[in-house]
Amino acid sequence: MLSAISAAEEDASVLLIEKMSREGRKMLISGKGRCNITNTAYQSEFYKKIYPKPKFLKYAFSTFFSKDILNLLEENGLKTKEERGGRVFPESDKAKDVVATLLKILKRKNVDILTNTKLTEIITEDNIVKGIKINREDKKDSIFAKSIILCTGGKSYPATGSTGDGFMFAEKLGHTVTELRPALVPLRTEGEIAEKLQGLSLKNSNVSVWVNHKKVRSEFGEMMFAHYGLTGPVILTLSKIAVDAFDNNKNVEISIDLKPALDEQKLDNRLQRELNESGKKQIRNVLKTLLPSKLIPVVLELTKIDQYKECNQISAKERKKLRVLLKDLRFKVNGHRSYKEAIITAGGIDTNEIDGKTMMSKRIKNLYFAGEIIDLDAETGGYNFQIAFSTGWLAGKSAVMKE
Ligand SMILES: Cc1cc2nc3c(=O)[nH]c(=O)nc-3n(C[C@H](O)[C@H](O)[C@H](O)COP(=O)(O)OP(=O)(O)OC[C@H]3O[C@@H](n4cnc5c(N)ncnc54)[C@H](O)[C@@H]3O)c2cc1C
Repeated sequence: MLSAISAAEEDASVLLIEKMSREGRKMLISGKGRCNITNTAYQSEFYKKIYPKPKFLKYAFSTFFSKDILNLLEENGLKTKEERGGRVFPESDKAKDVVATLLKILKRKNVDILTNTKLTEIITEDNIVKGIKINREDKKDSIFAKSIILCTGGKSYPATGSTGDGFMFAEKLGHTVTELRPALVPLRTEGEIAEKLQGLSLKNSNVSVWVNHKKVRSEFGEMMFAHYGLTGPVILTLSKIAVDAFDNNKNVEISIDLKPALDEQKLDNRLQRELNESGKKQIRNVLKTLLPSKLIPVVLELTKIDQYKECNQISAKERKKLRVLLKDLRFKVNGHRSYKEAIITAGGIDTNEIDGKTMMSKRIKNLYFAGEIIDLDAETGGYNFQIAFSTGWLAGKSAVMKE
């Protein structure tokens, strides 16, 4: 959509092809239906959140960055607001308002849109784009085009239309597609503990990923337990490291600090105080002051403390076990959920084969790439949409200038 707007601004005649019955289906469900449009962080911060070659985006970002997408949307009537961590959302909290605004701009710029139309082939001659083949309501057709911008997305959430078709077209034309894998994806864990806690959400946890017994990264925020393992924003952020390490046969563990506001000493003091003051009360009741009730039987099971034991009977050794567990509830990762539940696809068209100054293919003249199809992926926070907007905008402008 951004590519089409950008090209149409230069008075090009633009045709947008979408195989689903409506445009922007993924955007409609993004940010839990609220659409985290972009992030107000500096470019230097963006580079820290993007993999594997963020500097490929230098030119795209300098052409069209977060303030540009926000200006474009605001000029067209969409009010936005900034939240924690620089995340920008529509003021209405409705992703559909962002899609509607983009569609309004497309209409005003006279972009022709064909929905329910599937791109089936890119026609080239002597490595120069000539047109495309499409399938529309079971009718096959060919369309001549001077330039094509291929932005079919990744493979995640295929129900939105992103089924990875573009990778196939690009490979057929001699492009390298780097290893595709789900990223920002929930993790499967060994044992029954996560299942016992399913549905429980921890708002203020400090979660770390350990690879081969070394802590690699920690994140603070919200996470959830599910019947298969762990999910929620913090887990999705750490999943990139976890999935890559797991796929490379490394030992991967997730450690949850359930009491991040208290260091070991303070937590021990707190436990001691609670136990001293609670005398004959059962430990299972006293832990309610420290933990959500769903966690209590699990904590007692893991520390092997009898839930009916009176507080004045808890030994120093048992108190230590409690303290250690509250600071380090550990899960061994034994896999991840599929593309169906992955926010993003890591891997894609090799950036070495794309000119970063135009987004044009280095193999096929007048073929451009934009968005998630490119081997770029980012953490949560609005960075992934900004990659799509910036590369899309640059591709749109370049496709016209090169004509
Ligand atoms: C649940 C979820 C929540 C997300 N939330 C956020 C968020 O809040 N903020 C953020 O920055 N990122 C978010 N993302 C990531 C973000 O949605 C993607 O990075 C972004 O949509 C990529 O844009 P794109 O245009 O490259 O691809 P897509 O949005 O996937 O669009 C590709 C389009 O191409 C169409 N298509 C595919 N093949 C063909 C074909 N053969 N012929 C015709 N059309 C075809 C598809 O139907 C689709 O409409 C979220 C992702 C998911 C799954």
